[in-house]
Amino acid sequence: MNALVNFGKIFKFNGGVHPPENKTQSTQLPIAKLSLPDQLVLPLRQHVGNIPKVKVNVGDHVLKGQLLAEAEGMVSAAIHAPTSGTITAIADAIIPHPSGLPDHCITLKPDGLDTWIAHQGIDWRNTDRKSLVNSLRLSGIVGLGGATFPTQVKLRTDGKSAVHTLVINAAECEPYITCDDMLMRERAAEIVQGIAIAQHLLGATKVLIGIEDNKPEAIAAMQEATANTSMQVVVVPTLYPSGDARRLVHLLLGEEIPHNKRATEVGIQVFNVATVLALHRYFEYGEPALSRIVSMTGNVAQPRNFEVLFGTPLMHLVNAAGGAKPDTTHYIMGGPMMGFNLPDNNVPITKAANCIIAASPNLFAPPPPAMPCIRCARCADACPVSLQPQELYWFAKSDNFETAREYKLFDCIECGACSYVCPSNIPLVQYYRYAKSEIIAADRAKEAADLARERNEARLARIEREKLERAQKHAERAQGAKSEASPEQATNTPTETPDADAKKAAIAAAIARAKAQKQSLDDQPQTSSVTDKPTPAADEAKKAAIAAAIERAKAQKAAALQAGAMPRNVDTASGAVQQEIAEIDARRAAVGLTPPPNEATTQAAADKQAAIAAAIARAKAQKAAAEAAKLAESTEKKE
Ligand code: SF4
Ligand code: SF4
Repeated sequence: MNALVNFGKIFKFNGGVHPPENKTQSTQLPIAKLSLPDQLVLPLRQHVGNIPKVKVNVGDHVLKGQLLAEAEGMVSAAIHAPTSGTITAIADAIIPHPSGLPDHCITLKPDGLDTWIAHQGIDWRNTDRKSLVNSLRLSGIVGLGGATFPTQVKLRTDGKSAVHTLVINAAECEPYITCDDMLMRERAAEIVQGIAIAQHLLGATKVLIGIEDNKPEAIAAMQEATANTSMQVVVVPTLYPSGDARRLVHLLLGEEIPHNKRATEVGIQVFNVATVLALHRYFEYGEPALSRIVSMTGNVAQPRNFEVLFGTPLMHLVNAAGGAKPDTTHYIMGGPMMGFNLPDNNVPITKAANCIIAASPNLFAPPPPAMPCIRCARCADACPVSLQPQELYWFAKSDNFETAREYKLFDCIECGACSYVCPSNIPLVQYYRYAKSEIIAADRAKEAADLARERNEARLARIEREKLERAQKHAERAQGAKSEASPEQATNTPTETPDADAKKAAIAAAIARAKAQKQSLDDQPQTSSVTDKPTPAADEAKKAAIAAAIERAKAQKAAALQAGAMPRNVDTASGAVQQEIAEIDARRAAVGLTPPPNEATTQAAADKQAAIAAAIARAKAQKAAAEAAKLAESTEKKE
C-alpha cells in the first residue's frame, strides 16, 4: 500500500475475494492513441436499451463526429462517425456478445483525413439543467464502466428523488483491467471537470470518489486535481468486487440499496470516471462519444492501454500491442471474473470494451472437472450480497426456479466470487445465469399469455355488449312504432301488418262507395221500371268497355302507322280515317272520357303511349266488370 493512501471512514460489505490482480503489466506504458484501421464496424446495439435509428445510407461520405444513428425512445444512445470516411455497408456482422450472433452494424471506410464536423461546446454553467440533459441524447455517451446504460437517462431526475450524493466509481476492482487507473493518472484534471458537470446536472451537494488502494498514482493525481474543490477522494481497500456500484456505495456511505430500488431513490447516483470524462469532452468541446480507453493485456507482446475508436477491429488493437503470442487460444472482453470469451477475432471494439485479454493455457488453465458440493459454505462466506450460493446452485440444478427466485436469485450480481472459492470447482455462476434466463423466459411467456387472454376477454365482452345494444335498439324501435299507432290499432295483435291495415281500409271504403251509390239510386225519381233502368255499375262497365275499344283502335292505328300503312300525320290521313276518329272522340265524349292524346307526337311516343293506354284500358275494363258483378251481388244480398 502506498504511503499516500489514507483510508477515510469506510463500511465494509460482506464477503469479497482477492484474486491475483495482474494489473501492472498494462500500466508500464502511457496511454497510446491507436492508428486508424482500414474500416470501422459500429454495432447499433452498444448500450442498454433501444437500438438507435440509422440516419445515413450506404455510399454517404461522413465527417468525424457526424450522427450516424439517433437515439430511439427514452432509453437509447446515439452512434457517431469516429472518423471521416464513407459508409460502405449497413448490414449484419458479428458483434462482441457471448451469443456469437450477428447484429446490425454500420461499416465506415476511413478516408484518412480525420476531418471533424463543425462542433462546439455548451456553456453549461449558464444553461438550464433540463436543456443540458436533453442535449445529451445527441452525445452517445453511455456508462463506460461496462454497464453501458445511457448517461442522459441517469441524469434525468423525476423531481421525487433528489440526488444529494454523487459517487464516482474509480475502484476498478477486477483483475487485469487498468483503463480507469491510467485515465486518472493522465487526465485527472479533465475528470474533475467532468465530475463538476455531473454534480451540476444532478444538483448533488456531496461528491465521493472511491479508488482502491492498489492505485497509488491515480489516488495522488485525483487528490491533486480535487485539492481546491469540495470533492472527496476516498481510498477503499482492494477487495473484489468493490467496483460494483452498490458495493461501492456501501463502502463509502454504509447504505444498502434495496435490490428492487435504484440508487437515485435513496438520493445517490454513481458514475464511472471514464463516463464523467466523456461528459467533459461533450460539454466543453462538443465532442460526442467516439472512442474510449481500452486495456489490451494478457498474452500479448506489449500490454498497455490505448485510446481506441469505436468500431476498431479487435486484431488491429492486438497488433498495436505487439501481437498475440503463439499460444494464445482466445480473447476475453472484460476481466477474468465477469468478462466473456469473444466469439470471433473479427469483432469490433465497442463502448462496453474496457479490457481485452489475450488468453492462453498458461494464464487461464482449463478448469478442473466439477466435483459434488461438499456444503463447505465457502461460497456463502465470499458472497458480497449475502446470498446462499450453494442453495441457489441446488435449486438451479434441479430446475426448481421458483424457489431459487424466493432465495433472491435476482440479487446475484454474477461476480463469480463464489465460483472462485469453491473447492469443488463448480461453475456456480453458469447455473445462476441458466436459472435466470429460464425464469425470464417463463415470465415473458406468461406475460404474453396473460396479454393474449386479456385481449380475448375484452373481445368477447365487446361482442356481447354490441349484441345487447342491437337488441335494445330493436326493442326501442318496436316500442316507438306501437306508441305512434291509433288507440284502435294499438289494440291490434302484433301480428297484424301495415299491409293488412291498408287492405281493411280499402274494403271499408269500397263498401262505403257501394252504399252511397245505392242510396243515390234509391233517391232518383222512378221514370221507368227498375229492371229497365241501368245501374251505375253497369254504366261504369259499359264506359270501360268503350274506352277499351277506343284504345284498341288507337293501338291498331299506331301499329298501322308503324308499318307505314297509314300516313304518319293524322292531318294527312284519309277522310275515312278522320271520320272514324271523330266518331271515336264523339263516343268518348258521350261516356265522359277525356279527349284523346295529341296525335302529332313522335311516332315512338305514339307507339308507346298506345300500348300503355291499351293495357290500362284492358285492366280498367276487367276491374270495372269485376266490381260491377261484385256490387250487384252485394246489393242483391242486402235487398
Ligand atoms: S463452495 Fe462449492 S462445495 Fe462449498 S458449499 Fe459452495 S458450492 Fe458447495
Ligand atoms: S456470483 Fe452471485 S451468488 Fe456468487 S458470490 Fe457473486 S453475488 Fe454471490
